[in-house]
Amino acid sequence: MKTHNFYAGPSILPEFTKERTAEAVMNFAGTGLSVMEVSHRSKEFVAVMDEARDLVKELLEVPADYEVLFLQGGASTQFYMVPFNLMKTKAAYLNTGTWASKAIKEAKLYGEVIEVASSKDKNFNYIPRGYEVPSDVDYLHITTNNTIFGTEILEDLDVPVRIVADMSSDIFSRPIDIKKYDVIYAGAQKNLAPSGVTLVIIKKDILGKVDRPIPTMIDYRTHIDKESMFNTPPTVPVFAALMTLRWLKENGGIKEMEKKNIAKAKLLYDELDRNKMFVPNIPNPEDRSRMNVTFVMAPGFEEFEKEFLEVAAAHNIVGIKGHRSVGGFRASIYNAMPIESVGVLVEAMKEFEAKH
Ligand code: PLP
Repeated sequence: MKTHNFYAGPSILPEFTKERTAEAVMNFAGTGLSVMEVSHRSKEFVAVMDEARDLVKELLEVPADYEVLFLQGGASTQFYMVPFNLMKTKAAYLNTGTWASKAIKEAKLYGEVIEVASSKDKNFNYIPRGYEVPSDVDYLHITTNNTIFGTEILEDLDVPVRIVADMSSDIFSRPIDIKKYDVIYAGAQKNLAPSGVTLVIIKKDILGKVDRPIPTMIDYRTHIDKESMFNTPPTVPVFAALMTLRWLKENGGIKEMEKKNIAKAKLLYDELDRNKMFVPNIPNPEDRSRMNVTFVMAPGFEEFEKEFLEVAAAHNIVGIKGHRSVGGFRASIYNAMPIESVGVLVEAMKEFEAKH
């Protein structure tokens, strides 16, 4: 029986990615060697890195004055790498959850942080709107998808400065206007690859403007100059990322992915709005994440939470227990999640309602 994988990250990847990576673990590009045991300087691996970079540029329509990097240290490393490289005096941050708060903590080490708005007052269950972004800040940092709480900024914001965006959990899920961003970063372990690689898209001419000395390894210019090969890259995750990028292209690219993501999210949220036993955590439909759908038992049905987890398990549904800071449930429905699996969850909810 098929297992329906709703984990938040590491999480579901396309069958194509897994199959091709498994093959390459045994015999990579006809070398007779594993992708784990060839030099990153071999022509076969350099071709992987080049194609992965080119496909990111093609799929996201990245303009020529931006560079695409594959780095290590997770999105968490970007929390300090961004201010270290870009913050001259002050930067604006939008606080929409745990990850945004962690980014703010790091930025405060390097300059003044202006928190333009926060949704902390309601346990981060909405996306703030109507706040002012000062025009004299070095950048505005946002987290486009809040993996834990289940909110998402679904459009490219109109602000007087360029944006730095943590897109760890919604990269490649909808088209984006890259020109509005100075930096986009994403830990790979949701929509791209296994953990171990971080995608960074960066506007080149913003670099070299800060006075502080920058250690070589965390200077973006190092990685631009060395084409993500300054130090040994995580070869297996980069290979897997390339497979997912090929899969994205073969399946109609980002616009097609967005259509599927809208349909999947609608199926699940419609059921949450209808079913008397469950309520979505995010009241405003415009703020609801298409990637991480969070919900709780409706008032009066709280005692049934454990039982629903058991029912879900009986349907081979895994990974829907909510993050401890929210409780309830979280269904992560990333790009690779087929709508049929969302359907299985919806059916389980319907059956549960009928039973009680
Ligand atoms: N930002 C967001 C939005 C995330 O969801 C996560 C991890 O889940 C992180 C940052 C941290 O990423 P990493 O574990 O790659 O450092």
